[in-house]
Amino acid sequence: MAYQITDECISCGACADACPASAISEGDGKYVIDEGACIDCGACAGTCPVSAPQAK
Ligand code: SF4
Ligand code: SF4
Repeated sequence: MAYQITDECISCGACADACPASAISEGDGKYVIDEGACIDCGACAGTCPVSAPQAK
């Protein structure tokens, strides 16, 4: 299990700063989560202003 960032992302960067596993980086048009590094903590979802990180 890991979180994924949907196309709702506005590339604000807040989730990357909040991620304890440094699993989030800026991608092409939105931020992306490295599923192998994500520890499923939910911090990104709690920080995002548009609820783009979703548990899969
Ligand atoms: Fe990082 Fe936690 Fe979000 Fe996974 S769920 S990307 S570990 S903040
Ligand atoms: Fe995108 Fe939300 Fe992360 Fe901002 S906090 S970069 S809108 S996923």
